[in-house]
Amino acid sequence: ARPVIAIVGRPNVGKSTIFNRVIGDRLAIVEDKPGVTRDRIYGTGEWNGKSFSIVDTGGIELDGEDEIMKSVRMQAELAVEEADVIIFMVDAKTGLTLADEEVAQMLFRSRKPVVVAVNKVDNQGRMEDIYEFFGLGFGSPIAISGSHGTGIGDLLDEAVSKL
Ligand code: GDP
Ligand code: MG
Repeated sequence: ARPVIAIVGRPNVGKSTIFNRVIGDRLAIVEDKPGVTRDRIYGTGEWNGKSFSIVDTGGIELDGEDEIMKSVRMQAELAVEEADVIIFMVDAKTGLTLADEEVAQMLFRSRKPVVVAVNKVDNQGRMEDIYEFFGLGFGSPIAISGSHGTGIGDLLDEAVSKL
């Protein structure tokens, strides 16, 4: 079986945008199992000669802070269980949030390899956009832009090297 990369993070940080860029035109398989896995989308990717499955988490739209946090927490737990490497996505435009910190703690406890991707860095070279995310404790964050497609190669270099 292919190793698994999961993209985790709170809603609206750009997980699905990046997922779609990574899989390109490789058909995504929508899991249709009953229960908690039904909102997870699986695709395949290849980078530096390595094939992998990639999971986009958090497809269910929920209303209200509590429901959103519950969902993010659950998705992160599932990702930790099945992933070999986790891409933890955060948003440079909103900055670091409490929800990010909560997810970070869960991921940290899991001891799985984590790569922090700071999305929405639409102007490359703005170090100040990613600086605060060093504090999450997973090493150097990688600046990306789903809108412009920048930084995604660097992100995949890092993620695939940990498989
Ligand atoms: P998800 O909820 O984490 O899956 O996030 P989505 O991929 O659905 O994206 C949420 C919103 O952020 C959408 O309106 C995207 O168009 C927007 N978005 C995604 N990537 C970027 C980016 O790099 N820059 C900016 N400015 N917006 C982005
Ligand atoms: Mg999404």
